[in-house]
Amino acid sequence: MQKLRIAIQKSGRLHEDSIRILREAGIEFNNGINKLKSEAFNFPLEVLFLRDDDIPQYVEDGVADIGIIGQNVLVEKNKNVHIINTLGFGKCRLSIAVPKAKEYSSGADLNGLKIATSYPHILGNYLKENNITAEIHEISGSVEIAPGIGLADAICDLVSSGSTLFMNGLREAQVIFKSEAVLISGNNLSAEKQEIINRLIFRLDAVKKAKNNKYILLNAPNNKLDEIIKILPGMKSPTVLPLAEEGWSSVHSVVNENDFWDIIENLKAQGAQGILVVPIEKMII
Ligand code: ATP
Ligand code: ZN
Repeated sequence: MQKLRIAIQKSGRLHEDSIRILREAGIEFNNGINKLKSEAFNFPLEVLFLRDDDIPQYVEDGVADIGIIGQNVLVEKNKNVHIINTLGFGKCRLSIAVPKAKEYSSGADLNGLKIATSYPHILGNYLKENNITAEIHEISGSVEIAPGIGLADAICDLVSSGSTLFMNGLREAQVIFKSEAVLISGNNLSAEKQEIINRLIFRLDAVKKAKNNKYILLNAPNNKLDEIIKILPGMKSPTVLPLAEEGWSSVHSVVNENDFWDIIENLKAQGAQGILVVPIEKMII
């Protein structure tokens, strides 16, 4: 039987979350400390541990069938691969930052500047789309020190908290790209490998849905049941069970994280009591 090969980051910001989502999908393997690859014990999957920058190329070449990578790297490398799923972690933004004292009110203020970045492709597209004429100076690391040492007037780099910018006398002027980790696939995979990918996606979706939903249990007076059931969507419809105490029922349902607090407030207003909310581990609809 063929095995699917997935490339994930060997170490760095995506490493642990990449391993975590595979484990949550029930796939067990040894992690990549001092190893290039690892075979899953209970799923037809081989995990390759690589530098994130190399993953799009490996997937394009078919050395790996699929991979986990930040959209920032994916778009920058511009390889012939496609996104299968977004993964909800590794969220960050690519921004242009300028020295603190510098005026910045719009993209036009970047005209004529020299901008240091490790993302010449994404930055180049942004400048072109916005009719900005600036010089791109490509450097591979420590971009944030470039203005301080006179190498550039501004930078374009990943920002999370902004503290690195602050320490280097810079401030964020313009977000140009928002990124999260994605699952990518190469083209022309065999039907057998595609089938394994489908199984993997099915599991990842179940985990994702579960995270976005909560199981809710509450006690409701029977004369308010209709109103309470209307508030609770449930997977099909809520479960209603009689309580030992006359005139009361226990209602169980699933609610989406986004609507969660609104729903709870409405439930309380309708007389619901003893509301319990519990996490869901997997959710298959
Ligand atoms: P490698 O050694 O594999 O080349 P790296 O140093 O290029 O690693 P990391 O800093 O580990 O890369 O970041 C990997 C990816 O994590 C980034 O390309 C981006 O998609 C994402 N990322 C960057 N900053 C953050 C952050 N603050 N929070 C979450 N994810 C981030
Ligand atoms: Zn990298």
